Amino acid sequence: MNHHYLFVSAHLDDAIISCGDYIDSLVRAGHRVTVATVFTDTGTDLSQLARILHKKFGLSTDVMKARREEDLNACGLLGVDTIHLDLQECIYRKDRSGSPSYKKLEDLFRGDYETKLDVISKAAEVLSTRLCLTDYDRIYIPLAIGRHVDHGIVRIASEQATQSISDLEVSSRLIYYEDLPYLIYGQDTQWEIDLAHNLHPVYISLPRCSLKQKTAAILAYQSQIRLLWHSRREMLRQVVQHAHKYRPPGLRLEPSTYCFRLHAVGAPDHVPLATHVPANF
Ligand SMILES: [Zn+2]
Repeated sequence: MNHHYLFVSAHLDDAIISCGDYIDSLVRAGHRVTVATVFTDTGTDLSQLARILHKKFGLSTDVMKARREEDLNACGLLGVDTIHLDLQECIYRKDRSGSPSYKKLEDLFRGDYETKLDVISKAAEVLSTRLCLTDYDRIYIPLAIGRHVDHGIVRIASEQATQSISDLEVSSRLIYYEDLPYLIYGQDTQWEIDLAHNLHPVYISLPRCSLKQKTAAILAYQSQIRLLWHSRREMLRQVVQHAHKYRPPGLRLEPSTYCFRLHAVGAPDHVPLATHVPANF
């Protein structure tokens, strides 16, 4: 039987950069995939930080329109549906006095998202009202590795939105994905303790053709590559190198395959395409 899976993404690129290869394999297996991105709106009266980032994106006007088109192209390449939920991205948000909520790039990575209750409840509300969460057989959400404020908000909001559904089984459908490129950057050394201590790693072997599809889809996010990696070449090098990193003991990989990792709350067979679960699960 074919299933319908939902990937919740903080920004227009996260789900594909993090899971594009796994998504490709799900689609190849005949399943339907929807990527819902929460923060897809800008604001007026841009902060200095927003202006600096727009320059890095190489975009001057209609920044979100261009980024949404990049997302449609990337998701179209993988054959998945897209939903844009239109909340303001952190660099456009303002506090009650009208000042920008974040003035420096490093302010976005402080990991204090639990104090952002107003944005969390807005995100939980759009996830509950714009999507029918009970329709999806699995819901994939970010771990928030790297502690980007918007990633943390999406994780907590998704947990809240599923927990608020009276059908308790829905919250057991959550599966957590590793945030790339933040995991590759290696700066968040405590993530396993802080963000995944109650979760279990599950490994999935993927064909190399899915990795090729993922990098092709990432290339659609032209404006973000400059910000995240400096160059296309560096993106390709890092993403391919990272994909071949996981070699869990006890798993014999077939030729032309590699290992992808997710984190689950429930039983291993709960994770679609799972091929290997460590013995202590
Ligand atoms: Zn992001």
